[in-house]
Amino acid sequence: MANQDLKRRIHVLGTGGTIAGAQSDSRHLGYTAATYGIDWLLNAVPGLHDLAILTGEQLVNIGSQDMDDRIWLQLARRVDELLSTPAVDAVLITHGTDTLEETAYFLSLVIASPKPVVLVGSMRPATALGADGPANIYNGVALATDARAAGRGTLLCLDGEIHRPRHVTKAGTMSSNAFCSSPAGLAGVVLAGRVEWFEVAGAARAHCFSIAGRDELPRVDIIYAYPGMSADLIDSLVAAGTRGLVIAGVGAGNINRSAIARLSAAVANGIPVVRSSRVARPMVFRNAEVNDDHHGFVAARDLNPGKSRVLLQLALTVSTDAGRIQEYFERC
Ligand code: GLU
Repeated sequence: MANQDLKRRIHVLGTGGTIAGAQSDSRHLGYTAATYGIDWLLNAVPGLHDLAILTGEQLVNIGSQDMDDRIWLQLARRVDELLSTPAVDAVLITHGTDTLEETAYFLSLVIASPKPVVLVGSMRPATALGADGPANIYNGVALATDARAAGRGTLLCLDGEIHRPRHVTKAGTMSSNAFCSSPAGLAGVVLAGRVEWFEVAGAARAHCFSIAGRDELPRVDIIYAYPGMSADLIDSLVAAGTRGLVIAGVGAGNINRSAIARLSAAVANGIPVVRSSRVARPMVFRNAEVNDDHHGFVAARDLNPGKSRVLLQLALTVSTDAGRIQEYFERC
């Protein structure tokens, strides 16, 4: 057990999800996410309080399908506030897995502090046979206390793997190993609280945006492409007041001819368009099959549609210029 004076102080923010979920019977499939509060979760992990001095706070208690811009802004402000005091060395966030990658990416773009921010979730509810939440919280706290985690930005810790927000995605709905990182790879692994880094410190991206004074984000919508898709979808979103569009294109961010024409018109009317892809491992390069220079589109590179939407929302707080937005997609 670490000397109390040497222990790091980790503040844990609870937001809900399966990690806080409960079943009426541990043999049943059905459960209710976001049932237990953060204090219950922290006390349910054996040995956790030996790793760090822990304080907990329930920010919200929701299934992460109900996460939205307002809660993201509230969460980011609270993280900033906590990390700005010497009384907190790192923040751990418990979160549902459905939109975990979007929340993590959002935080990575707006939090400036070099202190660690670690997100954890779980695939099985707290009452399930073989619940994965306790190990994920234990490893997440161990990661948050690791001195080498500083300066690496926001990280995710699930099933013993350390992921970076830009590269991670939820790739399954069943096993505890549901999260995958793109070919860019894992940042490291954690086994029983022991952290092994695969990359040298300093590889993290700098935060790109300030949310100071902002209480909402521009509306950005995603359009999922499919054979025979109607361009009417684009018209409806433009009529509904969308400020930017992300295409979950087929293959390398492709969309049919009529949709391209309508999207090109949207760009001409001041609505930026980002081409991402619906494939499992996206990589959309500029000017491959689509002439992005001609239409004024932005290519999402390795960002999937959900995270492209997060980045476009924040980019629109600065500029609607396609060139400037493309730079954010390269750098952030
Ligand atoms: N849909 C819920 C959520 O994302 C539960 C899924 C989970 O946490 O694994 O919060």
